[in-house]
Amino acid sequence: MDKLIVLLLGNGGREHAIAWKLAQSDRVAKIFVAPGNGGTASGLNKVENVAIGVLDFAGLAKFAVENKVNFVIPGPEQPLVEGVTSVFQKIGIPVFGPSVKAARMEGSKTFSKDFMKKHNIPTAAYENFTDAAKAKEFIQKNDFNVVLKASGLAAGKGVLIPTTKEEACQGVDQILVEKVFGDAGNELVVEEFLEGQELSILAFSDGYTVVPLPPAQDHKRIFDNDQGPNTGGMGCYAPTPVASPEMLADIKRTILQPTIDGMRRDGFPFVGILFTGIMLTSSGAKVLEYNVRFGDPETEVVLPLLSDDTDLAEIMEACTEGRLDSVRVGIKPGFAATVVVASGGYPGAYSTGKEITLQKAGEDVIVFHAGTSIKESKLVTSGGRVLAATGVAKDLRTAVDKAYEGIGTIAFDQMFYRKDIAHRAFTFLAEQTASANQM
Ligand code: AMP
Repeated sequence: MDKLIVLLLGNGGREHAIAWKLAQSDRVAKIFVAPGNGGTASGLNKVENVAIGVLDFAGLAKFAVENKVNFVIPGPEQPLVEGVTSVFQKIGIPVFGPSVKAARMEGSKTFSKDFMKKHNIPTAAYENFTDAAKAKEFIQKNDFNVVLKASGLAAGKGVLIPTTKEEACQGVDQILVEKVFGDAGNELVVEEFLEGQELSILAFSDGYTVVPLPPAQDHKRIFDNDQGPNTGGMGCYAPTPVASPEMLADIKRTILQPTIDGMRRDGFPFVGILFTGIMLTSSGAKVLEYNVRFGDPETEVVLPLLSDDTDLAEIMEACTEGRLDSVRVGIKPGFAATVVVASGGYPGAYSTGKEITLQKAGEDVIVFHAGTSIKESKLVTSGGRVLAATGVAKDLRTAVDKAYEGIGTIAFDQMFYRKDIAHRAFTFLAEQTASANQM
């Protein structure tokens, strides 16, 4: 069998983590990253950046043909929702990612809510609207608190959590009338506010079989104790103890497998990595959202938890060939934690071009690059989330300590990071110990 010449699309920490794991595979001869970042520019065997944007489909296809690319992995959602998969499939190159139809599960929240209702997949009560007056009527007549979601892609924004009915009605106007999220707000989902612990489950699928990775917990807010505005994610750890093995088995049975089966039966089978955001409520696990690709920073913890003899390229190939059940997805015992380092000011305005110095990190510490690039042979900041330091260890506390040890190897002007990654796990474990001691 020919070895794989991979074209990986994207430039985040997620793509650096994917390239890092793929580079360990004997199946892989070369990994081109378009456009990549400072971490994929050098330092990884077989990996090379190419200066083509993720939405330049003609440029990407031309490059793929000229360089004998035989496998494509789209990292972010935008190219998937805009149909990149068929661009390559038409020229005979397999893609680890869903079709444009399957990508609607992320690209349209009204679509995914209707899908869940049709297939009895547990989710928050909801209704879809294009008319502001009708949405406000729905808010007034229901006795639950609501969450407002612009239906389309809004770069991780697009969700409002109002605290009063009045604020909710103002939010309806902001999304449907003032179009604060642009065309993403042409349609609106108004859904029931759910309380509980949140978790992210990334799962491989070939359209039939679904293989979940360890459940992760992200930290969306910029400041410690979950304060301040939402971000793309400031840190993550896995596996989270808030979901017991029984709960995870239930989630697979009532959510993940019915999603994959429903998509196939509805004529848009899912190939790739399905990311399901879940709330563990007092009445069971409910879906908050689907994403149709690896999460960031979840990828920076789940891929380092794949066992050393597990070959990511083999898994991805098996997914595109409908034989995921024929490969092994081995998971290391233990935990991984990642801490994101951002530029001061993020998620608001921040400066770029600041020089970064990196010391050598210790064993079981990996520093993934996100918003970095190389300018005049110096590593500089080029985005809001700049780097992510991941620690892997037998226990969660040591994994977190190792991630912070990784942070200690990083320096740039106005760097910023949260100091409390995995705090919900530690609180949960302490409460469990306390209640066990009382018995
Ligand atoms: P989404 O993009 O749909 O995952 O929403 C972004 C964030 O908003 C989620 O990660 C949750 O923290 C929060 N969220 C979304 N839907 C709900 C809901 N129905 N109840 C409570 N929080 C929610």
